[in-house]
Amino acid sequence: MTVHTLTGRTALVTGGTRGIGRACALALAAAGAEVVLTGREARTAKAAAEAIAAETGATVTGMSLDVPENATSAETFECAESLLAEIAAEHGELDVLVANAGILRHTPMGLIDAADVQAMVAVNFVGSLAMLQAATASMRRRGGGSAVLISSVVGVLGGDMLAAYAATKAAIAAMARSAARDLGPEGIRVNAIAPGVIYTDMVSPAPREMLDATVARVPMRRVGRPEDVAGAAVFLASDAASYVTGHVLAVDGGMVL
Ligand code: NDP
Repeated sequence: MTVHTLTGRTALVTGGTRGIGRACALALAAAGAEVVLTGREARTAKAAAEAIAAETGATVTGMSLDVPENATSAETFECAESLLAEIAAEHGELDVLVANAGILRHTPMGLIDAADVQAMVAVNFVGSLAMLQAATASMRRRGGGSAVLISSVVGVLGGDMLAAYAATKAAIAAMARSAARDLGPEGIRVNAIAPGVIYTDMVSPAPREMLDATVARVPMRRVGRPEDVAGAAVFLASDAASYVTGHVLAVDGGMVL
């Protein structure tokens, strides 16, 4: 049985072509939302949108959003504002944002490359903040909404060779808690999800032994699936979470315990 909890809502998922973002876009569409998903290239975004539309029967649109790795904060904010303006013109104001687009670079302490730091700050941190700000303006015009940011378990635990990446993800959790305070009075909820190890293109290059060692530390004894995160995103986006804001929801099989 399909429960249409998001019928009549418009949702944007950044980084919706693959992995966690694609699963979120699919689950939001299956829950009844009209979905706009983004990828760096319009062609792959459109292909992902068409596949999800065919599977769910929902209206799904693919658009290009490519945050340049060397972008200044001002450029990233402009990028987000122009995307939201285009969405508002073509699909109406936004009810739901899943700010998921992100990159990971393993950078051992002592050998950290400034270009990698710049890229992760631009895409993960400033990218999420810029999308949240642009979506806030749209949700205000709509009279409310729900934003879901994607943090990470390593934002709490830290991780090997992840000082820079983990810091951007901890920043996203802080961003959700702070924005929730500002936007609560306007009926805009802001939450974050902190996924554990989810098997996607981001994780699959890791050596088998490293994944096995991680799984051994996860109480549920398995890596996560993108759909595990998508279920949490639909919950936070929907009225089922109508009094939940400023929360960082771990979806990690208990890894953080
Ligand atoms: P993937 O690498 O599978 O997908 C990344 C997505 O982000 C793609 O849709 C990609 O688009 C998009 N993207 C990449 N770079 C940019 C950019 N410069 N500008 C705009 N969009 C971009 O990642 P995951 O699904 O694994 O991760 C999704 C989110 O979840 C990330 O924020 C990640 O940090 C977080 N996360 C992931 C975990 C995991 O174990 N996988 C654990 C915890 C958090 P395109 O297809 O066009 O390249």
